[in-house]
Amino acid sequence: MKTFSIGSRLTFWYLAIFAAGQIIFGCGMWFILRHNVYRIMDENLAGEVQDVIRFLEAQKPKNNAIDRLREEFEETYALERQGDYLQVLDAHGEVVYRSPFLREHPLVVPSIQFGQVRYEDRELGGQTFRIISQAIDVRGRPFVVQTGIPTREMLTILWLFRRYLLMLAPLMLVIAAVVGHWLSSRALAPVDLITRTARNISASNLSNRLEKLKTGDELQRLSDTLNDMLARIESAFVRITEFTADASHELRTPVSLIRTEAEIALRRQRGEEEYQESLRHILLEAENTSVLVEKLLSLARADSSRDALRVSEFDLHAAIKEIAVEWRTLATIRNLELHVNIIGDELLISADIGAVRQLLTILLDNAIRYTQHGGIELCVEEKQGKALIKVCDSGIGISPEEQSKIFERFYRATNARNHGIDGAGLGLAIAQGIVQQHHGSIKVQSHVEMGSVFLVELPLSAMEVTAYKSDHQMRAHH
Ligand code: ADP
Repeated sequence: MKTFSIGSRLTFWYLAIFAAGQIIFGCGMWFILRHNVYRIMDENLAGEVQDVIRFLEAQKPKNNAIDRLREEFEETYALERQGDYLQVLDAHGEVVYRSPFLREHPLVVPSIQFGQVRYEDRELGGQTFRIISQAIDVRGRPFVVQTGIPTREMLTILWLFRRYLLMLAPLMLVIAAVVGHWLSSRALAPVDLITRTARNISASNLSNRLEKLKTGDELQRLSDTLNDMLARIESAFVRITEFTADASHELRTPVSLIRTEAEIALRRQRGEEEYQESLRHILLEAENTSVLVEKLLSLARADSSRDALRVSEFDLHAAIKEIAVEWRTLATIRNLELHVNIIGDELLISADIGAVRQLLTILLDNAIRYTQHGGIELCVEEKQGKALIKVCDSGIGISPEEQSKIFERFYRATNARNHGIDGAGLGLAIAQGIVQQHHGSIKVQSHVEMGSVFLVELPLSAMEVTAYKSDHQMRAHH
């Protein structure tokens, strides 16, 4: 089915309502006019009958004989008064007076009772008349009076009125159509404007905005809402572009290191040991690259919310004890001590055990990497219906102004760079993603060269855990 534009539909309805109004108004006016025209004619006729009554009453009793009355009528009505269409009869049907016109065009006398009045339209001698027939009683003597007026003039007025109405109606409709079209196109002009600008917005000019309307109506709300939406899409788009650029940049370094190492090794013939050394370097860089790619992948997955959490109930204390075993060995290699402080027997928590392990791995890995001497402490306890995990170290620390930035992707604090410690700046972004997926929170407290404390709060119940939306992370970053 063909659909019409809002503008044409509005014009059509405007026209339809206008036409209906015009028909109702026209018909109404015509009937009112007709009713009044007939009322005036009938009032005139009734007045004429009253004249006849007054005339009869004014007669002297000696004139009561029918012949005398006839003479009186002849004298008065045929000569003085407007008696052109008058006839008066007595009770026996004897004509008291009959105007010359009615003598030529006889008017039938209806049988009516005393006091009865009858109005009717009649055609006499090719003309239409409004006729009144009334039975009257003058001093005990009954008469029937009939008089009429030609209706031609009045009917002409009615006919003219109808003709003008019918002539003006199409003209008014045309004017209404033009005005309706103009009004609807004026009201909808901002929609066209929005459509035209929206059509030109693409990935390359996402910073463009729709024309700011100042109409203060629904259309302004629509354009403002669309502009807000564009702003959100733009910031997401910019973030993704930056992420891609940063990721490529990060990947370029290890790949070019591998390439240089291989090129140097191949430049001339070398002994087996030299080759082995080169291969070891290449392997190390390749391993670093795999770790980086793995991190990028998990961030990309979090963004697309494809990795739904595999929530199960497990004992957090037991899981932490298990993880601590591996990390204690690693800490010992770096001459650090790992203390694990578990408060309480068992802490059942509904979460994705893989994600929680990854979170602890990131925090413990950072704690060990950014600590030159001293120890690391891992504490777990239940507090106000939440699992509280604390990772404390006595490392290089983070300056207060950088503490809020370290959760951003690829951000690396100055202190870490000054100490020449490697890293891509992705670990904490992933950790924050995991925590948010679990509707928890992550905070840092730190003093430069004294150490840092990372505090994680996770809800115990699985009810609150839902798929992580990249939107959350987006807002956290801006
Ligand atoms: P990276 O791979 O660089 O460690 P992260 O996202 O894990 O990436 O950390 C971001 C930055 O936060 C690090 O570069 C470092 O500057 C700082 N940081 C993280 N953990 C610690 C810590 N335990 N002590 C000091 N600085 C830290």
